[in-house]
Amino acid sequence: MDTVIALHASALRLDRVSCDQLLQRGVELAHHLGYSAAGIKRGTLAARGMGIESRAFGGGVPSMRHGGITASLQSVGASGFIKPEAREAIAEQMRRLGMISDRGYLADGGHGQPLVVVEVPSYFASPTPDIPLLMSDYREGGYNHRKAEEMLNESRGFDGRHSIPCDCSMEDDTVFVVHRLHRLENRPVFERFKAYEAQVAEKRRQEQLDPVDMHPWLARLADKNDLSRVANTVYLLHGTDKGNLASICQQGLKSSLSLAKGHLWYGKGLYFTPQSCKAWQYGAVRGCVLLCRVVLGRVQVLEDKCPQRLFPSSEFDSAMAMKGVTRHDGRHDALQVHDEYIIYHDAACYPEFVLEVSVNGPV
Ligand SMILES: [Zn+2]
Repeated sequence: MDTVIALHASALRLDRVSCDQLLQRGVELAHHLGYSAAGIKRGTLAARGMGIESRAFGGGVPSMRHGGITASLQSVGASGFIKPEAREAIAEQMRRLGMISDRGYLADGGHGQPLVVVEVPSYFASPTPDIPLLMSDYREGGYNHRKAEEMLNESRGFDGRHSIPCDCSMEDDTVFVVHRLHRLENRPVFERFKAYEAQVAEKRRQEQLDPVDMHPWLARLADKNDLSRVANTVYLLHGTDKGNLASICQQGLKSSLSLAKGHLWYGKGLYFTPQSCKAWQYGAVRGCVLLCRVVLGRVQVLEDKCPQRLFPSSEFDSAMAMKGVTRHDGRHDALQVHDEYIIYHDAACYPEFVLEVSVNGPV
């Protein structure tokens, strides 16, 4: 099996594949990779879609190194299956060819979804990433601590394009202090997140979603860590009680746990914000602010509250309560004070950084 795939990977020059090649040779490749007949058929359709995309972008698809492997595999296989033994061999071969690093691997998208190449962030340091770990290798008072503090203090009351200052209870001279900074390293949860992200990316590939209005700190971090623009993945804040950390570390954020809080104006989901003052309202008891990767996909800006909601509206992947726009009390004079984003799938979030925080001065 190894030899066959090696031959085909190099013969097809997968790191430089063009859409025309995919169109011509996709079925052949899929066959050798062990895809089902149905997968090949649907894959051929997907390959045609890629051809259209390629023409729109002036020819060529991204190299495998830049995520093109996902696109390439999806385009030849779509919803088909790769046999398990083939999958391992492909992963091994891709590693050898330098297409994925040692940390990269293939994950099943689940429910007939395409295979996804998952690359754990290069700064994950756990030798056993399958075992959830709160990694605390940041130096106290060091660069990352200071940056985290700056981010919290500058994103308080952040005004974006829709400039209505937040009118929350946090006073101007309140200062956030970060006591400890951790990074959650949990490969199964990260894998689940990446598989979901790939589904959204696949769905939204043609749409060129508008980027959401984000605090510059969060936008820079998203750029640095190469978050998916196609899936509209962003960094957002989520405040929580320190007592929830053990569970979050094991399973990620669970909307079922947030249900107990009540007052979920925009439905039964997970709530995030780019504004530290809002995140703090949730974590104020024993404060933790989580800096999470969140797949927003296509965002619906809500006009009114919708407490009964369990899923995003059709045609959307997430919802937003926009400050100064969204009514939360059915009246014009009760407008949302902060920007909040709501996701309705737990897999749409990866809680990556944990900031143990307190505030100095009036709240
Ligand atoms: Zn505020």
